Amino acid sequence: MIKLPMTDERIEGKQKIDVMLGGGTSYFNRKDRNLIEEFVRNGFGYVTTLQDLVMNKNEQLLGLFAPIELPKQIDRGLTVPSLAQMTKAALERLKQNPNGFFLLVEGSQIDWAGHDNDIVGAMSEVKDFEAAFKEAVKFALNRDDTIVIATADHSTGGMSIDGNENYKWNPSVIKSITSTPFVIAARLHETKDVETLKHHMHFTIHEEDLKTIQTTLELEVEDTKQVLIDIINNYSSTGWTSKGHTGEDVPIYAYGLNRHLFSGRMENSDIAKILFQIID
Ligand SMILES: [Zn+2]
Repeated sequence: MIKLPMTDERIEGKQKIDVMLGGGTSYFNRKDRNLIEEFVRNGFGYVTTLQDLVMNKNEQLLGLFAPIELPKQIDRGLTVPSLAQMTKAALERLKQNPNGFFLLVEGSQIDWAGHDNDIVGAMSEVKDFEAAFKEAVKFALNRDDTIVIATADHSTGGMSIDGNENYKWNPSVIKSITSTPFVIAARLHETKDVETLKHHMHFTIHEEDLKTIQTTLELEVEDTKQVLIDIINNYSSTGWTSKGHTGEDVPIYAYGLNRHLFSGRMENSDIAKILFQIID
């Protein structure tokens, strides 16, 4: 999540970022440069846990909550903020600016889960994004100067319903799983015992599938993860058409001021053009 610089020089006289929250500590604290120290020297607050984020009162804020990517929503512990909590923290600061602001909130790992064809990761990340969108709409609710837009730059994985089971999707399987396949696979490789599955996947798994999982415990975590993903897709009748990005149109939703400018079929690059017109 980032406040992009306003390119309109008349607004601020200079381009300025006020809030950056997410993962990526290792990209900031590097051998050649420590960008965290540079941010702090320039007046930014710096936080690394949810608790710090909630307590911090700094107007400009850098928050890095993982070395590279954040854990997916379903795998997050108590110290890593949700996308909604980060959105709230950003809005609290940005709303102070009398010239207005632009906030970009990305549910970026919906895409990663799509590449993996991982329905558990995808649903958990969508849930995280949905809560963040609600937080943004809540902010805009009583204002007449704010627009909230939700869209995607593309779809990934081409999620569908597996026709083999008469198109009967079974989300209860997905709901009964408490971690992503990657985390479950890593745990299984620690314990070397398929019984560990019972702590994470609360549906009945056939004996032959348990045997298949067991054989992967001699291989790599990635192999176990792939088998778990296949089993979860199979039991939930989730189908996928690709491991890459797909070509269909994506929806755009707009709430608040000038929302009528975002409807029908649009070129994605027009979204930015219209936003700049609104700012003008
Ligand atoms: Zn992608």
